[in-house]
Amino acid sequence: MKTIFHVDVNNAFLSWSAVNHLTEGGDVDYRAIPAVVAREGENGGGIVLAKSMAAKKAGVVTGEVLWQARRKCPDLYIVPPDYRAYVRASRAMRALLDEYSPLVEPFSIDECFLDMTGTESLFGPAEDAAAAIKDRIYRELGFTVNVGVGAVKVAAKMASDWEKPNRVHTLWPSEIREKLWPMPLSFLFMAGKSVVASFERVGVRTVGDLARLSPRLVAEEYGKGALRLWRYANGEDDSPVCPVSPPPKSVSKGITFSHPLPSLAACEDVLLSVAEELGYELSEKKMNGTVVTVSWKTPSYRRFSRRRCFTEGIFYYADIFAKAAALFRESYRGGAVKYLCVTVSDLSFERRGEGNLFAADDEKEERLANTIYDLKRRYGKSALTTARSLGSGGVRLFERGAEREEGEKRFLGL
Ligand SMILES: [Mg+2]
Repeated sequence: MKTIFHVDVNNAFLSWSAVNHLTEGGDVDYRAIPAVVAREGENGGGIVLAKSMAAKKAGVVTGEVLWQARRKCPDLYIVPPDYRAYVRASRAMRALLDEYSPLVEPFSIDECFLDMTGTESLFGPAEDAAAAIKDRIYRELGFTVNVGVGAVKVAAKMASDWEKPNRVHTLWPSEIREKLWPMPLSFLFMAGKSVVASFERVGVRTVGDLARLSPRLVAEEYGKGALRLWRYANGEDDSPVCPVSPPPKSVSKGITFSHPLPSLAACEDVLLSVAEELGYELSEKKMNGTVVTVSWKTPSYRRFSRRRCFTEGIFYYADIFAKAAALFRESYRGGAVKYLCVTVSDLSFERRGEGNLFAADDEKEERLANTIYDLKRRYGKSALTTARSLGSGGVRLFERGAEREEGEKRFLGL
């Protein structure tokens, strides 16, 4: 039997902002007051990304608009997100966890799985080791975590979700019936709203109700996804802890504009900047993709999407731009654009489409692209850009906050 830990930072963004503020000499602990992490927009816009316990008690929920949160909690303190601080805190936690096991899998910015099998002689029984890790993270890094302990990843993951903060919970195979089965079905990892609703319609309300059904019936009536849930409900999960995260299936870049883009030309300028970003990302990963998707929304949130498959692997920004712009023109009938997104998918490390008529050109283009990306890596993303992006201020769109607002306004001539 294996021993798996799932370490999950409590209230990650708010905690990390608080710790960062205190280490920089601040005197307010955001965790102790009604506070939320959110980027404040115009007219009370902006979305609550994380909240303190006091804000939660006042009824503030993650994902709601700031003006609504303020109505529930008038003295709400607003902390702007600081992604650099979050990445720093995440890396520090990862480095600490690496001391406990060679098998650490980052699951999200604030969650890691550890395979602790066979470490008892070094760190003692699983529960003691989990408590030691939790206490050390608090002592050395200043924030609290929950640690879930189990024999498989899904059990550890669900265990870490019980009472918070600063707790260790176990969900061993022998505890599945007593601890997991009475829980509502929605507690189960990966149980989405629609599948929960369809089970509830036939009286399957708890995890135990699902676990006791016949797996054949579940698979036939509800499909493969539901069968996976049935396995989770029975504490089964054969996925190993993978220290190296699997390569991405796609790269994507979407932008929501506070001032909608007014014309085809403006959209194309943005598409070029987006294509530059994606080309750079693909070159960093040394990958190429064969599917390009463009999606966009009007200010009333009507959504349009066009995708196309190609035989050659695409990685060069000019290629991404040409294909994305063509797809966009096919679906665009004029009017303002509030959101624009380009995705390159079916990614692979293998070169595809070689040996075609344009192979020689491809090689030249690839060398050019690599030189451009190399300069960007060395001197920063805005060191080199296309004349078109520069003229429009498109590059500014990728900057954050006020500067980005400024860039957008200039870009639109406001
Ligand atoms: Mg968390």
